[in-house]
Amino acid sequence: MRSFSAAFTAGIHTALLTHLTRDDGDEDLTFVVWKPSVGAGRETAILTDLVLPLSGDRQVHGNVSFQSQYFLRACNVAADIGGGIALIHSHPGARSWPKLSSDDFNAEAGHAAQALALTGHPLVGLTLAGGSKEYSARIWRRAEERRWEPQWADKVRVIGDRLEVSMPKGPERYSQRYQRRTIDSWGTGVQQTIGSLRVGVVGAGSVGSQIVEALARTGFGDLVILDYDSVENHNLDRILNATVEHANGAAPKAEVAAAAAKMHATHPNFNAAWSEASAIEARGIELLKDCDLIFSCVDRPAGRAALNALAYAHLIPVIDGGVLVSPGRNMMRGAEWRAHVAAPGRRCLECLGQFDPGLVQADRDGLLADPSYIDQLPDDSPLKRNENVFAFSAAVSAQQVLAALRMIVAPAGVGDIGAQTFHFASGTVDLDTRGCEPGCLYQGMTAAADGGGRPTVHRHVSAELSRAER
Ligand SMILES: [Zn+2]
Ligand SMILES: [Zn+2]
Repeated sequence: MRSFSAAFTAGIHTALLTHLTRDDGDEDLTFVVWKPSVGAGRETAILTDLVLPLSGDRQVHGNVSFQSQYFLRACNVAADIGGGIALIHSHPGARSWPKLSSDDFNAEAGHAAQALALTGHPLVGLTLAGGSKEYSARIWRRAEERRWEPQWADKVRVIGDRLEVSMPKGPERYSQRYQRRTIDSWGTGVQQTIGSLRVGVVGAGSVGSQIVEALARTGFGDLVILDYDSVENHNLDRILNATVEHANGAAPKAEVAAAAAKMHATHPNFNAAWSEASAIEARGIELLKDCDLIFSCVDRPAGRAALNALAYAHLIPVIDGGVLVSPGRNMMRGAEWRAHVAAPGRRCLECLGQFDPGLVQADRDGLLADPSYIDQLPDDSPLKRNENVFAFSAAVSAQQVLAALRMIVAPAGVGDIGAQTFHFASGTVDLDTRGCEPGCLYQGMTAAADGGGRPTVHRHVSAELSRAER
């Protein structure tokens, strides 16, 4: 069976807190519509719309309860927009992952069959711990005839300026022995979160190989690395841990990165899976929907467009970056590198100009691997440019890892500083804090999950060719 998790935007989190935190200190509840995001090994309930109670819909009297008219109205709203129904109630003053009281259990189990019948989706239950503003979540599965059991979430993610993660108390996912200086920097609470996240790294080339190394050393514990390319001789000046033997044997870049990560990891129970799937193929998208964070180390438009859709539709923040070198005729003119996070409320990769939507289809068709097609692109097209140096890749990979850590750690309370552009020649940094352009397609697909049909699955001709050549 797939694992279960829940996720929602900081906007939904604020609306829930506003409604569920009462001046009189009593418990309260509301229904929320959720949409499924189903990956290879995990199903995520993405909360989308609150269906707040009207007067007479519920009784607030210590232990809050609701009338069936409210439940039916909420189920109708959910069914109308193709979603399921979630019941969320508060435990004022509670801290960390709230458990179910027997009243809670009976209220949720008693509505599980009807919720499934009326919406086509299982009932989801959440509890807000009012004291720490954390959540617990479960989905109700039929164990046998007339008996329903909760399948508990392994985490609840809130995605805003920060990535805030609620988790049940579990085994330590850090090592005092191998991570002492790291833990001294931000404490065991942050380190436990870092050690619990599943992180996708798309592209294991010059930038991806260094990001994987940094994640393994920092204490991330669960990586999935995607790359369909093999190591070649011309990669050896930039790919960390790649050797002449790898190039001679056409070793998959993803496999090389995963093997090195396993040797260098500091997490007590480290796992790095790798795949030759592309981020636009069905298998690649499935694997990425299991992730809590994704690093984009691709430079092609089709891959970036797919990752951009995952960031908004599935609420999985995508940390993207890139390098652009300006060689010049007689004297190197400079270089710039960028790092930024695509996530709801932030400027997306298309609005940042990180890919040209007009070239996405050409990329899927394999045309960008065809020199004659590339030749006819304008001279300033980034697709014509592949100059790069190890230190530029090191700089951009460090900035991408720092952007992820900023979301998790929020140093001085700051989780979002906008998109960064670094200039080699001047040593300066530009920040872009703008949101998306009006009418941006990607902001519009926020929390659409699987029902939104994004990202769309495609054949990827270059990926097929690359795998076949091996
Ligand atoms: Zn309760
Ligand atoms: Zn946008």
